[in-house]
Amino acid sequence: MGLVVQKYGGSSVADAEGIKRVAKRIVEAKKNGHQVVVVVSAMGDTTDELIDLAGEVSPIPSGREFDMLLTAGERISMALLAMAIKNLGHEAQSFTGSQAGVITDSVHNKARIIDVTPGRIKSSVDEGNIAIVAGFQGVSHDKKDITTLGRGGSDTTAVALAAALDAEVCEIYTDVDGVFTADPRVVKKARKIDWISFEDMLELASSGSKVLLHRCVEYARRYNIPIHVRSSFSGLRGTWVSNEPQGDQTMEQALISGVAHDTSEAKVTVVGVPDKPGEAAMLFRAIADAEINIDMVVQNVSAATTGLTDISFTLPKTDGKKAIAALEKTRASVGFDSLRYDDQIAKISLVGAGMKTNPGVTATFFEALSNADVNIELISTSEIRISVVTRADDVNAAVRVVHTAFGLDSDSDEAVVYGGTGR
Ligand code: ADP
Ligand code: ASP
Ligand code: MG
Repeated sequence: MGLVVQKYGGSSVADAEGIKRVAKRIVEAKKNGHQVVVVVSAMGDTTDELIDLAGEVSPIPSGREFDMLLTAGERISMALLAMAIKNLGHEAQSFTGSQAGVITDSVHNKARIIDVTPGRIKSSVDEGNIAIVAGFQGVSHDKKDITTLGRGGSDTTAVALAAALDAEVCEIYTDVDGVFTADPRVVKKARKIDWISFEDMLELASSGSKVLLHRCVEYARRYNIPIHVRSSFSGLRGTWVSNEPQGDQTMEQALISGVAHDTSEAKVTVVGVPDKPGEAAMLFRAIADAEINIDMVVQNVSAATTGLTDISFTLPKTDGKKAIAALEKTRASVGFDSLRYDDQIAKISLVGAGMKTNPGVTATFFEALSNADVNIELISTSEIRISVVTRADDVNAAVRVVHTAFGLDSDSDEAVVYGGTGR
């Protein structure tokens, strides 16, 4: 039997009981004859608590020190998990991301993995140990500083290690039974998906389904690593994410894979931009130079009398202050009137490869929203996704009506959420 990589999220190791429960599961996999490499997240909401703490001592903490602080969370859980496994009579060794050979670029707080050299992990499992690796962190290739991979980054650590170690599968253990047609915290009637393609999962993940991080899915697709998302609280089979369904994995309905929502973004509107070539370029160059990723962009038709237009775009709330500061600096050269910042928005997305060839999906989506009296502020589409921005207050109702409108509601058991605070 080959090597498996198992990743346990924060909700699975929230307390000592959780760590002991997970340790038993890991030992089972070892007893079944696998070599086991485990990637672990910080306990419960530790990362959020550390972020809050940093905010109390400094409004914009230095990226380097912020990463140093946050990686402490995963250090705690990795050592405790190794202790719990040893207590069950099995050998385990814990490693930081740097020790595990996770090499990144030097962009603090959202570093990208550029190489994985897992020599120490390989030797450790070859000697019969279970290797425990701290998720979400690495070391920068140039300055050798400690970096973090962005929120939810342990998923990416797991897939990157699975690729580098040529693992059979990467198992992502979490607090729900797999990937559902919508967030089970919002839609009780969400259905568990048996198999989903990398393509659809990538869209769901980048549209806010935080059950898997999009970078992790990108990585898995590039190296063709099958992912099995499942619960660490139940013995049930979860969701397989891969190129094609295998064995008895049933291929789900083709039209719509699911509905995702995201409340982590904000909307910036640049009001009164002269409607001439080069203006948008200047604005977005300033945003790019501040290393901010934007999502949707909409430009209004300019008013004939003034020749001025408004440009709106969405971005992560966490980059809001930085974006406004960067745009302010371009005010004189661009000549816009004012800036508006709105963080009370939500994005709702419908994802499914089947919509490419099915007319009427957009109409049904908008009708469902209108029936629930939800106003649409921005729209963007790709071949297999439609996203809209609405008021944050409307998000749960909107997700539910859209889920029902596309016939996604399950008629059997309610989706179970085993743990976590949903923070
Ligand atoms: P972990 O601590 O294991 O990393 P996360 O909180 O990052 O867990 O991800 C699991 C959560 O993702 C679930 O509790 C659920 O609320 C949320 N989620 C959002 N969309 C979906 C979806 N489509 N299917 C399953 N879970 C989803
Ligand atoms: N602990 C980190 C976070 O909360 C990484 C992770 O859990 O994947 O974002
Ligand atoms: Mg996660």
